[in-house]
Amino acid sequence: MLPEFRNEPFSRFSNPEVRAQMLAALEAVKHEHDVVYPLYIDGEAITTANVIESLNPSRKEQVIGRVHEGTAEHAERAIAGAARAFTSWSKKSFEERARYLFKAAAIMRRRKFELSATMVLEAGKTWAEADADTAEAIDFLEFYAREAMRLGAPQPLTRIREEDNELYYIPLGVGAIITPWNFPLAILTGMTTSAIVAGNTVVLKPAMQTPVIAAKFMEVMKEAGVPAGVIQFVPGAGETVGETLVDHPQTRFISFTGSRRVGCRIYERAAKVQPGQIWLKRVIAEMGGKDAIVVDEHADLDDAARQIVASAFNFAGQKCSACSRAILHEAIYDEMVDRLLAITKDLRIGDAESPDSHVGPVIDEGAFQKVLSYIEIGQGEGTLLCGGKQASPDGYFIEPTIFGDVRPTARIAQEEIFGPVLALIKARTFEEAIDIANDTDYGLTGSVFSRDRDHLEYARVNFQVGNLYFNRKSTGALVGVHPFGGFNMSGTDSKAGGRDYLLQFTQAKAVSERL
Ligand code: GLU
Repeated sequence: MLPEFRNEPFSRFSNPEVRAQMLAALEAVKHEHDVVYPLYIDGEAITTANVIESLNPSRKEQVIGRVHEGTAEHAERAIAGAARAFTSWSKKSFEERARYLFKAAAIMRRRKFELSATMVLEAGKTWAEADADTAEAIDFLEFYAREAMRLGAPQPLTRIREEDNELYYIPLGVGAIITPWNFPLAILTGMTTSAIVAGNTVVLKPAMQTPVIAAKFMEVMKEAGVPAGVIQFVPGAGETVGETLVDHPQTRFISFTGSRRVGCRIYERAAKVQPGQIWLKRVIAEMGGKDAIVVDEHADLDDAARQIVASAFNFAGQKCSACSRAILHEAIYDEMVDRLLAITKDLRIGDAESPDSHVGPVIDEGAFQKVLSYIEIGQGEGTLLCGGKQASPDGYFIEPTIFGDVRPTARIAQEEIFGPVLALIKARTFEEAIDIANDTDYGLTGSVFSRDRDHLEYARVNFQVGNLYFNRKSTGALVGVHPFGGFNMSGTDSKAGGRDYLLQFTQAKAVSERL
């Protein structure tokens, strides 16, 4: 019998054996810099005229690998092939499709350190962050496989005497899967395999910054035996490959995780019915956040400060769940500032490859410039309490930065920065703190630190976010435990890792037979 879903445990790098395995994996991955990965269309490895060079954000010059770059024509071919593959893949049982995911999970477990090491080097994730990313990818495979089996089972309907009634969940068709660089294995795996286990076929366009880990995902899926054409792999630019996928009349749905700007653009383009198109495209979007942690006058301040720092600066703040606003009751504001600064000053910024680094680089030059420009804006909007500068010039390192006395309407309190920048905002009452927290276009995560039951209950009802946490950090949602997704400009509240997620990739067919 299938065991119940359990989250994949995190690796214990304090154990010398585990540490040695990770070091060996890092060495091995570094030797792969000459590998050039192909596109996959209809199961065939395709090479193209251009390659994407994947660079290490901790060491700007270090090449991690190269991946062939697809064009709009490749995207077209991939959609046509996926539509052909849909004919047979869509007819397989949920249970049969689930088995490919179980197999892929087993392969990822075997390749765990290699996959994590690839993300350390390609995405600048620290060891712990990369390990959590691989664990989450395995979780998605295990979780969605079980969910598929639940959807494939007979569905409960009200019985009437003179009829036999059944309801089936059937797939939609060809999907475009456009994935982010910040969880380059976990979110990519979750988005791709949820769609295929439901019976759809997909064209996967990974983020340009992290194509090597995406290519390794394809190796895993090939080894798991996923038939040709079910996952078409077309790395390439958003303007060419991405837009072709979004606009194509044969595209039935688009699953996207990334910026608000791109998400809104996709939503708008997808709404246009193209000549020959016979459906309304479905868009599943997970976009940004401007997440707040509220601390009241009754909270455990040491704990709150530690969790705020972790939420704001782990992975250099590059999570849509990251805390970018700490809203502090005025009675504890000064004490919290002292604690936050003390913890932040102890953070070691450096090459993600070093097991001693707490904070790695931001992803690339564009991100680096954007974050620095927000720090400049912040200088005019609040008091710079720490950080604010580039750290080592070897990579895209930015010091963890905290601004004090920021107004709730300031740009650094309203716009998503996606970097290690935290704004501290003072509130006179708890209710005012929640109002400030809600005063944003987004609604993804939020935390409250309090020992006052009335405050927690007030927040439970009034704090408008998709993922609300009490007395813990705002990041690190676990598959199956914290179904993840937000309100308003954070996206379509499509709860990844939750029991409703797979339904978005299906349509329901009710069949009634008169007896
Ligand atoms: N699920 C992740 C978390 O809870 C964030 C995902 C994202 O940044 O897109 O931290």
